[in-house]
Amino acid sequence: MKTATVVGAGLVGSLWAVYLAKAGYKVTIFERRSDIRKAEISAGKSINLALSDRGWKALKNVNLEDEVEKIAIPMTGRIMHDMENNLSYQPYGKEGQAIYSVSRGGLNAKMMDIAEKNGGATIHYNEKCTGADLENGIVYLENSITKEKSEHKSDVVFACDGAFSAVRYNAMQKLDRFEYSQHFINDGYRELLLPANEDGSYKLEKNALHIWPRGKFMLIALPNEDGSFTCTLFMPSTGENSFEQLTSREAVDNFFKTTFPDFYEMMPSVGDAWKDHPLSSLAIVRCYPWTSGKTALMGDAAHATVPFYGQGMNAGFEDCSVMWELMQKHNEDWTKVFAEYQEVRKPDGDGVQDLSLHNYYVMRDYVGDPKFLLQKKIEAHFSAKHPDKWLPLYSQVTFSNIRYSEAWETGQKQDAIMKNVMAQFDDIENVWDSTAVENAILSEI
Ligand SMILES: Cc1cc2nc3c(=O)[nH]c(=O)nc-3n(C[C@H](O)[C@H](O)[C@H](O)COP(=O)(O)OP(=O)(O)OC[C@H]3O[C@@H](n4cnc5c(N)ncnc54)[C@H](O)[C@@H]3O)c2cc1C
Repeated sequence: MKTATVVGAGLVGSLWAVYLAKAGYKVTIFERRSDIRKAEISAGKSINLALSDRGWKALKNVNLEDEVEKIAIPMTGRIMHDMENNLSYQPYGKEGQAIYSVSRGGLNAKMMDIAEKNGGATIHYNEKCTGADLENGIVYLENSITKEKSEHKSDVVFACDGAFSAVRYNAMQKLDRFEYSQHFINDGYRELLLPANEDGSYKLEKNALHIWPRGKFMLIALPNEDGSFTCTLFMPSTGENSFEQLTSREAVDNFFKTTFPDFYEMMPSVGDAWKDHPLSSLAIVRCYPWTSGKTALMGDAAHATVPFYGQGMNAGFEDCSVMWELMQKHNEDWTKVFAEYQEVRKPDGDGVQDLSLHNYYVMRDYVGDPKFLLQKKIEAHFSAKHPDKWLPLYSQVTFSNIRYSEAWETGQKQDAIMKNVMAQFDDIENVWDSTAVENAILSEI
């Protein structure tokens, strides 16, 4: 029987196990943690994520979309909250398009259930991978409770063990000429749970992603199924307006009262809830090659990114779609599959990382900027008239399967065109939907 090992039963590992099982592999998964389905998860501990088209495509390939739809909340646009408590709405795409808020734990648990039930995958918990023999398909393990050491061999190995992958660190990084970089941005994040009203209703509009953009930092909120919102404050770790200044309950209270007044009104207990979740850091990890011998990196292990485009998981799920197509194409000749996988996919790993950093600046600095909003309005107007000529960057990334590398390139060109065109009209605010502006854009494409 064909055998496969998956290291890490996170989002990508558990989905990829479903694929492998579907292809008839006997799949063995090793997960460092205990079974999240049995662990007592206190409310709000598991954060939610935005699932978009690429993720849905990968779920559809193995018929998981109906199951996931049951736990997914559509968000059709962003609602921006300014300092005066004014709200403005920006749709994400066209009528009927949305990104979806899903609970990380809920999604992960569902995929684990399905991998085990239909696919015959076996998950071993508390088994920490400590290294690998890449050429021979062997992983080395240590049980975190008994400390017992063991090893496991299979035809092929997939390292889905996240941003700080042990397979990458302990085996790939020992390879000659292995490229590796790890970049921590100065910003960290802390989560907060905005509880539901007493009757279980939502305190904010449910079908939107809420943003409080404040220049160098921002707060965002995504809805949960129980009426609460998981909110994340992204801000510099050090310096002015940074986490290092928010060290006391009073400092947190004052900060929210003055910076996010409508939020503070909804959650006057924010100072008490501040320490419920840890302060975490954010990094981009780039590496190459992604495969060696019988072993491949997938998901964050290959291309961990900062979360500002909501694409990390979606990109990891897209790895599954790509690997799956290559499996068919090369009739499971893994040498060929791996060679093409890393060649085709690496530019898109870089692409999603570039896009994510770019969107950080967009969300942090620009979504509250009238000029930026006008640019987006003109783009949407132009795109509606000329859909064959212009797909806004956000739609390319979120509502299409256009390669990330291509989207990044096109997006930069579009931005240059728009800046150029807008500079040509002194009264662009008044003529933004005129034929003159339309023609100016057409002449630059
Ligand atoms: C604040 C934040 C918000 C985000 N929001 C979004 C979003 O909205 N949309 C989106 O698409 N993405 C988002 N992401 C990114 C997303 O979380 C990741 O891209 C995704 O979790 C990657 O999945 P993975 O399976 O590759 O890695 P992980 O989810 O990290 O899973 C890795 C698994 O491997 C296990 N493991 C680790 N080391 C070992 C070892 N040595 N041995 C055995 N097992 C091991 C871990 O316990 C874990 O279960 C966000 C990330 C952050 C930090």
